[in-house]
Amino acid sequence: MCRHLGYLGPAVSVGGMLTRGDHSLVVQSWAPSDMRCDAVANADGFGAAWWDATPGVRDAAVHVSAMPAWGDPTIAGTLAHVRSDAVLAAVRSATSGMPVTATASAPFVDGPWAFSHNGVVRGWPQTLSPLAADVPVEDLLRLPAATDSAGLWAVVRHRLRNDEPTSVLRSVIADLDREAPGSRLNLLLGDGTTLWATTVHHSLSVLTADGSVVIASEPLDGDPRWVAVADRCIVVATRDGAQVTPL
Ligand code: GLN
Repeated sequence: MCRHLGYLGPAVSVGGMLTRGDHSLVVQSWAPSDMRCDAVANADGFGAAWWDATPGVRDAAVHVSAMPAWGDPTIAGTLAHVRSDAVLAAVRSATSGMPVTATASAPFVDGPWAFSHNGVVRGWPQTLSPLAADVPVEDLLRLPAATDSAGLWAVVRHRLRNDEPTSVLRSVIADLDREAPGSRLNLLLGDGTTLWATTVHHSLSVLTADGSVVIASEPLDGDPRWVAVADRCIVVATRDGAQVTPL
């Protein structure tokens, strides 16, 4: 299962956020400690999104790669020199049968939104069909990749046009509980100011400290302030703190 993280706080190096801590996201790409599936590494690519600090511009920028995070020089190179007060990043372990391409790596971005999915939609693609019934065909034709996560992103993005993020994520999970029981649905959504994260059959921890918040599949270090999020919850976080509510 993939691993992901979100950060809000004082401006940091985007590359530095991927290598932060002795159990950083890059370390989790080859030595994750809580996979809950047959995979042993998250070697099928990675991605990082960040938000421009230019006043009035709050679109997410993204870098995605099909290379393992530990082997892509972009992290210690270009991304180390990009700074932002908001980062959303992921390392990927492709679900069996799904393509390994840069465009299949989260985050998926559109305007202010960046999205990552850690898990699997059982019975995909058939089980996603009822949720995608009202998604415009032009969105489906522009899916970044033929994966469950990209399909979920198309559904989430479409619902965000008419609804606020918390109820969008709640509605998507309720629909998948019905259509695709047993799915693993740790979703992570950001707009550069707020992070929304769900736990459905996968791990997640939160660290709020020093005017910043980090949400991560696995704690990045041994800081005792990391708090594990219970299963079937939604976290809504800003740099001032995080609220955890049952789904
Ligand atoms: N199923 C998704 C994919 O293949 C996410 C994978 C994961 O969480 N390991 O991209």
